[in-house]
Amino acid sequence: MDTVRILVIDDEKVIREGVERALAKRGYEIAKAEDGNKGLELLKEQKFDIVLTDLMMPGLDGFAVLDWIRENQPHVQVIVITGFATVTKAVTAMKQGAFDFVGKPFTPDYIRVVVDRAIDRLAMRAETERLREEKNMGLLAIDKSQSRLKTVFSCMAEAVLITDTEGIVVLHNPAAIKILEIQTDPFIGKHLAASIRDRTAINMINEAMSKVMVVTREFAPGAISRKFLRAYCSPVTNEQGAVIGSVTTFEDISAHKQIDKMKSDFVAMVAHELKSPLASVEQMIYALQVGCKYEATSSCNALHKRMTTRTKDLLRLIENLLNLSKLESGTVVFNLEPIRGEDIIRDVIEITKLQAESKGISLSYTPCGEDWLFNVDYDHMRTAIMNIVSNSVKYTPDGGQVLLSTEVTGGFINFRVQDTGIGISKEDLPHIFDRFFRVKGKATRHITGSGLGLALVKEVVEAHQGYIDVQSTPQVGTTFILSFPVVQKNTATISPELQAIAQ
Ligand code: ATP
Ligand code: MG
Repeated sequence: MDTVRILVIDDEKVIREGVERALAKRGYEIAKAEDGNKGLELLKEQKFDIVLTDLMMPGLDGFAVLDWIRENQPHVQVIVITGFATVTKAVTAMKQGAFDFVGKPFTPDYIRVVVDRAIDRLAMRAETERLREEKNMGLLAIDKSQSRLKTVFSCMAEAVLITDTEGIVVLHNPAAIKILEIQTDPFIGKHLAASIRDRTAINMINEAMSKVMVVTREFAPGAISRKFLRAYCSPVTNEQGAVIGSVTTFEDISAHKQIDKMKSDFVAMVAHELKSPLASVEQMIYALQVGCKYEATSSCNALHKRMTTRTKDLLRLIENLLNLSKLESGTVVFNLEPIRGEDIIRDVIEITKLQAESKGISLSYTPCGEDWLFNVDYDHMRTAIMNIVSNSVKYTPDGGQVLLSTEVTGGFINFRVQDTGIGISKEDLPHIFDRFFRVKGKATRHITGSGLGLALVKEVVEAHQGYIDVQSTPQVGTTFILSFPVVQKNTATISPELQAIAQ
């Protein structure tokens, strides 16, 4: 306890000083007042622990002081000082809340005993208060942890379902309603079977409780929702080990299942794409083995040539697949540098020229008036644009036209590749960027390809913050536009005439 502060109120100086003397050397802080009014003033200004007050004083008497203290500072312990003739008054004062009384005349020892008792009481009160606060804190913590648990329980993405041994639902979280598609209201208090139609869930809960072990299942709860759930059910036991219920969590794994399916579809597709060229190469090897003795050398050479082409196609397919998977997994590091758009186009034309010439297709390029730089990985971008141009040449009948152009609008550089080819129908257009998608029809029957080219283009374009636009009319032609943000105007290389216009 801090230093005890005591106030002595008495109109008799001897009494005031007598009390002070009796309590000296005890380390208390003692203040004195000669009447009730002065006493009250001090009480209002300072903090006291104990007040010793005379009852009969001129002006404000001890009872009025006592009343004020009970009203305003109930923690203060009041000891009444009174003459023996007025003991009944002291009793009344105690009934009004005084702690004790001292009869006049008093011995110093007696004053000390009474004050000690008041101090003990103060200490006890302080301890009680501390315990009460501690208890409140404890309750607060419990309350907090309970509301925390509640929050976690209701915010969990997994469904939680708690049942008793009879399979009656005791508790569940909101996710349970959603994941298990429960329509029964209320769900609590009813048997599982009333709300969950799927027997797998009910059986597993029964099994977990009867075998007293954790049971795990993956199942599709209903034919309508096409959902896939993974459930873990644990039996709940009491201290004696007896089963008293079950806790089951359900996790929606439909997305994982779909990804798994896509993966196996992809593997099946790749296997198929790899198998057919390999099978034809195998056949040709066989034909060479059995037939070469009798066949003319020219036929054998033709077979060799076809085998070489098929093998090259196969290698290209594998290379495309590897590139695509690297691009999709994000493991490709792009070395971006400011490049002139025109340089890439000229490079692409150089590579595809032969292919176009062999079909009598005119390949022309109209550069835009200004010179712009854009941030690209040169090799990846060249391959992407080459795929588009080579498609145009591939899907344009002999003697057609492929026009390349660049233009800059709204901070973007647009590469346009326009052909007079077979075109793409409205139905097929949304799928051309899918892996292995190839338009099947009379016009494309004899055109080889893996259906990976555009999927690769899309990955590269998106990695450069660009986008692709395709317009196509069957039998008329197709236009691909690849757009990328421009970095800056390349004034250094702009011709003097253009610079003059730009200014
Ligand atoms: P790959 O490029 O892997 O050798 P591919 O050319 O068949 O094979 P993509 O480049 O991905 O595959 O093109 C997908 C499909 O889109 C093609 O099979 C073709 O049917 C259609 N297509 C693409 N470009 C054109 C075009 N310019 N004109 C008409 N059809 C096109
Ligand atoms: Mg292609």
